[in-house]
Amino acid sequence: MIPIAKPNIGDEEIAAVSEVLASGIIAEGKRVAEFENAFAEYIGTEHAIAVNSGTAALHAALLAHGIGKDDEVITTSFSFIATANSIMYTGARPVFVDIEPETFNINTDLIEDSITKNTKALMPVHLYGHSAEMKHINDIAEDHDLIIIEDACQAHGATYQGKKVGSFGTGAFSFYPTKNMTTGEGGIITTNDSEVARKARMIRAHGSQERYLHEMLGYNFRMTDIAAVIGLVQLKKVDGFNLKRQKNAQLLSEGLKDVSGVTIPTVRKGCEHMFHQYTIRVNKRDELITTLNQNGIGTGVYYPRPIHMQPTYIGTGYNYDLTICEKTATEVISLPVHPGVSDNDVKHIIKTVIEEVN
Ligand SMILES: *Cc1c(COP(=O)(O)O)cnc(C)c1O
Repeated sequence: MIPIAKPNIGDEEIAAVSEVLASGIIAEGKRVAEFENAFAEYIGTEHAIAVNSGTAALHAALLAHGIGKDDEVITTSFSFIATANSIMYTGARPVFVDIEPETFNINTDLIEDSITKNTKALMPVHLYGHSAEMKHINDIAEDHDLIIIEDACQAHGATYQGKKVGSFGTGAFSFYPTKNMTTGEGGIITTNDSEVARKARMIRAHGSQERYLHEMLGYNFRMTDIAAVIGLVQLKKVDGFNLKRQKNAQLLSEGLKDVSGVTIPTVRKGCEHMFHQYTIRVNKRDELITTLNQNGIGTGVYYPRPIHMQPTYIGTGYNYDLTICEKTATEVISLPVHPGVSDNDVKHIIKTVIEEVN
């Protein structure tokens, strides 16, 4: 079976973890700080604050910006539920805007219609590893005095006009095993705002800067040194992983571009797509999934049910016109693109898709 996702853990990661375990200092310590510095440098921000999940990174980023009860945050419903849940945790309300059919990301032309006096922030998601339209988002944020919090959980290394995502506003990344790089579970906040960084550090550790002095309500969002050393090794490899993802994506697109009934992913001019997922659109998705699986090819649907249609979000009293989002959720299918996928695997995937669709 060619799995849809597979973490790349090698001898170096295993050795690094053994070393931390043997040292006896395994919780948050020096290695977390080292990882933060390395990640901030990688993204190009002044600060990075490591936490124990991407969800915690989003949650802490919102809180560090002072977002809470009665505030509204504009985002997309076509994402993993953590995007909207992080907003709900703060007492604020996620306001969903429809997506662009080509990139699956928030349609920035529709954002201004959803701005009210309660809107505090924009939370674009760089879905599948492809940047949202950040120039337009920046302009809207400036015109309306809004904060930008980027859900970059799928987009380590992705760029928009030469700049890494996660450095436009305050960024949140995940290091879950299926992501472009991993720490087991983990996440990180990136920001150039030193006050936001200071608050995020406090929120991570029960609201304290000084031990046993708690200035605000915080959480235990700490990353361990065990996770941080995995991250340090993975960070050295992530550009190589991403390059392999891009090569696989290019081969898949070359093989599928003229196949009728298949829409291949678009890359916006000026963007570098890191292909966390390689996602196509098809009409008869269920048949294709069955055939691929029967031929030893794993598939994924991200996401079959938009967030606003999830049981926890239904009946909250808000009506959204998310036509494109709802239609897209019935058509998308992701094919294996991760660095463990070989050229032969790609050929087998292309051949199987063509046979089924024709
Ligand atoms: C993975 C992911 C998250 C949450 O990250 P966790 O580390 O699983 O908590 C949030 N948003 C998006 C878009 C994700 O893909």
